[in-house]
Amino acid sequence: MGQQFSSSKNERQRHQDLASSFTEYFKKFKVESKIIPQETLASIVLNLSKGNIQVANSFITNALKEMDSTPLNVAVTGESGSGKSSFINALRGIGHEEEGAAEIGVVETTMERHPYTHPNIPNVVFWDLPGIGTTNFPPKDYLEKMKFNEYDFFIIVSATRFKKNDIDLAKAIQKMKKDFYFVRTKVDSDLKNEKEFKPRTFNRDKVLWQIRDSCMKTFQENKVKQPPIFLISNKILSEYDFQLLMDKVVNALPVYKRHKFMLSLPIITRAAIEKKRQFLEQTIWLEAFAALFNMVPSLNILMGDDVENLRCSMKRYRAVFGVDDESLQSLAEDWQVSVDQLKAKMKSPHVFETKEKETTQERLSRLYEEFYLANGHLVAKNVYVKELFYLKYSFLDMVTDDANALLREICVKNNLVSA
Ligand code: GDP
Ligand code: MG
Repeated sequence: MGQQFSSSKNERQRHQDLASSFTEYFKKFKVESKIIPQETLASIVLNLSKGNIQVANSFITNALKEMDSTPLNVAVTGESGSGKSSFINALRGIGHEEEGAAEIGVVETTMERHPYTHPNIPNVVFWDLPGIGTTNFPPKDYLEKMKFNEYDFFIIVSATRFKKNDIDLAKAIQKMKKDFYFVRTKVDSDLKNEKEFKPRTFNRDKVLWQIRDSCMKTFQENKVKQPPIFLISNKILSEYDFQLLMDKVVNALPVYKRHKFMLSLPIITRAAIEKKRQFLEQTIWLEAFAALFNMVPSLNILMGDDVENLRCSMKRYRAVFGVDDESLQSLAEDWQVSVDQLKAKMKSPHVFETKEKETTQERLSRLYEEFYLANGHLVAKNVYVKELFYLKYSFLDMVTDDANALLREICVKNNLVSA
């Protein structure tokens, strides 16, 4: 009787520990960086502390499933030549000459929308819509024909000042309770032209202000409240308002879609890399937490399945951070260096390379030891978490470092080119 009592007391203590480690962990992240909705987090903690482990666990596994399966559909619309296809390629992180790239510089003849899936993130689709002017449909019919209901938000693109058409379309989108963003492309070429024509009086900020002002005029003329307008260049994403636009979109999306969109974005700033890292870190942590409840104790530290699982994870992380083999190959071609030269500066491509006589398992166990010594417990002090999850954490660290190193290199190269 006494023993039973103390074991149930221990159980209760364990549930409290799990609940508080859950709460503590998610405190680290700002609301907009959390990968699950606040209400779900609260339900998990409540159920853990009450000892409803199965219920808490199903909340977690459902959240993980939802993260994977939630689709994101983005509509990009604008007149032919405004830079839609270039913008879609930029968002997909695909070079214009790469396989599967949206063809650029072609005059639109089709009245149909065209889907472009993200190469690395399943369920993320960018839809290239023919400009409303090309179709001659009134906005409501246009949106119906283009299946407006299937998109999470719209991007209205123009390479010149916006037209009445664009405003009417935005109004119709708003009526249908969808979000839209105005994007003015090709600012790099406006700046270049101004500089060439007026080398003595050229002022970059003034030109940008003029572009913005001219875009606003149509809104004023039509007595419409001016929306924010994002000035971008599809050629140099890290300049102008591209990052600002992405931040706006990310923050406006519901949690699971936000996660998807963030992971799909090209790596152009350290902040974007850090956001991706935080999203993936929480995913690994949640997986580790869920595994606590259905772990089969085993003497084998890392099994064959685990190694396969780790290979897949590494592949995915590298793709998400743009340091996968294909991306490196394409960069190497652009920079006219060998891909091995690029890889030599990175850690993530070499994780599964073993030294003489060492097996992959031994190599990974060594990595685990190092990581564990440096970082300590993953969940809580008295809770055993499989090596697998520590290794995923360490992979994520490696890939983050590699992506930051690559970004530094890209910046140096760009400065050299523009110097
Ligand atoms: P779409 O017809 O709307 O799909 O436009 P495209 O993406 O095919 O682009 C039309 C032309 O504009 C192509 O020659 C692109 O190279 C060029 N272009 C697109 N975006 C930009 C940009 O931001 N800057 C510059 N300089 N050229 C761009
Ligand atoms: Mg096009």
